[in-house]
Amino acid sequence: MRCSVAVLAAAAVLTRCSGPGSSGSSGSSGSSGSSGSAPAGQGGPAKAPDAASARLAEQRRMVAAARKWRLDQVPLTAPAPPKVKPRITARAGFEVDHQEDENLPPVFTTVPTDKKIVFLTIDDGAEKDPRFLSMMRELKVPYTAFLSDYLVKDDYGYFRKSQAYGNTLDNHTLTHPYLPGLSYEQQRQEICGMQDVMEKQYGKRPEVLRPPYGDYNQDTLRAAKSCGIKYAPIWNEEVFVDHWEYREDDRRLRKGDIVLTHFRGPDEWDGTMVDDMRRFLNKVTREGYAVARLEDYL
Ligand SMILES: [Zn+2]
Repeated sequence: MRCSVAVLAAAAVLTRCSGPGSSGSSGSSGSSGSSGSAPAGQGGPAKAPDAASARLAEQRRMVAAARKWRLDQVPLTAPAPPKVKPRITARAGFEVDHQEDENLPPVFTTVPTDKKIVFLTIDDGAEKDPRFLSMMRELKVPYTAFLSDYLVKDDYGYFRKSQAYGNTLDNHTLTHPYLPGLSYEQQRQEICGMQDVMEKQYGKRPEVLRPPYGDYNQDTLRAAKSCGIKYAPIWNEEVFVDHWEYREDDRRLRKGDIVLTHFRGPDEWDGTMVDDMRRFLNKVTREGYAVARLEDYL
């Protein structure tokens, strides 16, 4: 079923709006805990009225947030993180020599899952739009930020706020070079130097690296592994403020896809980060996907 924010508001939350609406398998996405409008608690122990009213208040709050940020629909809630993490391997064709025997960080574009979820990753760090932080917090949309030091060092605090709201900060090198053009030692400096910055500024050495431009070679993964990197996710789709781009020829989202966008604003494209996120959320929600936290699956 599809319904607009306006309809949702009128229907006050008696019905959960979910599902792609167009495929024949509506209600089977597995991304929402309950479908339809069965009374809460039916068939089980009676829920305390407080819990029910808290849930109602939260649903109302989400409807209001979706309307405030001018979304077509309320974003879907991601399922609980998996108890057993999926085994992540390099995407076929994206391995380097000795990938397995050296246990090098895998490069992948999609996380194995049967849940209807995608992952949002945001790169670089040039634009620091406070409205973006508010939007994502109010809509409870998780994301992973891949930071490059030369773009974030003028305001580390902006990303500290992002981190305080529960989002993960990961490594995108010191100066955003084309890594395969550098020696092993130079790559180590770029990647491991950024590990030091992340630890100093954000209190944690990331386990996740995104090589700039998605370009890497064996030295990249060896250097990354030498300073604690375990995963090197790239992406399967990229969203811009005015369009989407796809790695796959069929131009479709898949379960577990990693979506890339950038901290960019009106200086670089024709809109704000809020506009960019609206484009992202409207499409994934319309197609029945919830946004999950990448680190919950690693
Ligand atoms: Zn980048």
